[in-house]
Amino acid sequence: MIVVMKSGTPEAEVNRLGSEFEELGLTPEKIVGAHKVVIGLVGDTASFDIARVQELSPWIEDVLRVEKPYKRVSLEYRHGEYSDVVVPTPNGDVIFGPNHPVVVVAGPCSVENEAMIVETALRVKAAGAKFLRGGAYKPRTSPYAFQGHGESALHLLAAAREASGLGIITEVMDTADVEKIAEVADVLQIGARNMQNFALLKKVGAQDKPVLLKRGMAATIDDWLMAAEYVLSEGNANVILCERGIRTFDSKYTRNILDLSVVPVLRSLTHLPMMIDPSHGTGVSDFVLSMAKAAIAVGTDSLMIEVHPNPAKALSDGPQSLTPDAFDHVMKELAKVEKLTDRAQPALAIA
Ligand code: PEP
Ligand code: MN
Repeated sequence: MIVVMKSGTPEAEVNRLGSEFEELGLTPEKIVGAHKVVIGLVGDTASFDIARVQELSPWIEDVLRVEKPYKRVSLEYRHGEYSDVVVPTPNGDVIFGPNHPVVVVAGPCSVENEAMIVETALRVKAAGAKFLRGGAYKPRTSPYAFQGHGESALHLLAAAREASGLGIITEVMDTADVEKIAEVADVLQIGARNMQNFALLKKVGAQDKPVLLKRGMAATIDDWLMAAEYVLSEGNANVILCERGIRTFDSKYTRNILDLSVVPVLRSLTHLPMMIDPSHGTGVSDFVLSMAKAAIAVGTDSLMIEVHPNPAKALSDGPQSLTPDAFDHVMKELAKVEKLTDRAQPALAIA
């Protein structure tokens, strides 16, 4: 249930009402939007009569039920206002949201050694990326495939952060590693294979680093939003949703089917910002530019692109990785598309 307060409601009244809801056994959450204050109520609200709630204060403008299974992530919960996720990085705050320039996250699938990660960081930064991605802990289909260098790769990510000033995004697969990874990462990635690892979702929800939640390869949009709801329900509202392709019957020419329709669909359902990953979405480096352009055209807030100094020798995901030179070209092409959109001050134009 959400309670929309009239504009100009005194703060003391919002707080008084909040305490009253708490006494009624509900969990009130004050959401201060650009125009209005809204009180989100989670708990057993089914038994509460809307008219009775309305009578609790003359400052209440409206009382609405959120009919969806997810509450905090729903667009209604913020009364139709999209939220920004602001991530502090050494180079300054980076904002993910529909009214901000497209943010590009780039880097190798796996952190392989210090030279390659630092070189990639400097190249992608020069091309206009705002975050370096790179896996220290890798979810691999085969137990015999390279599993990532683990903790030692976290130190290499820290070195690349130091050298480039880029924010770091890296995957966490195990609840036991969350604190250690959060010391280095500016954003914690939950991979497609762990989208419904509820223990992990609760754990990242209880810490204060933003979370990049990739869509499971066979997850519906509702499954995905419910997974995000786990993170928000533990107190962490900074979630970015990343589409990385889903499994369908035809996987002959691309690794996955990149579902770009999620952009308008998510925009109609949730206030959370979103990201598109054309690298895992297609699995083919030659297809990355087309799908990245399409993603910007359709309105994504951010992109994730895999870049490796020598894709032919990459320890994971070489076929979908761009060389730094190819990434330079991609960024220039993407800047042209971004200019055609109505986003504030295109950022990719620095390429
Ligand atoms: C990755 O980002 O390298 C990765 C493993 O992604 P996904 O979870 O989408 O497969
Ligand atoms: Mn990868």
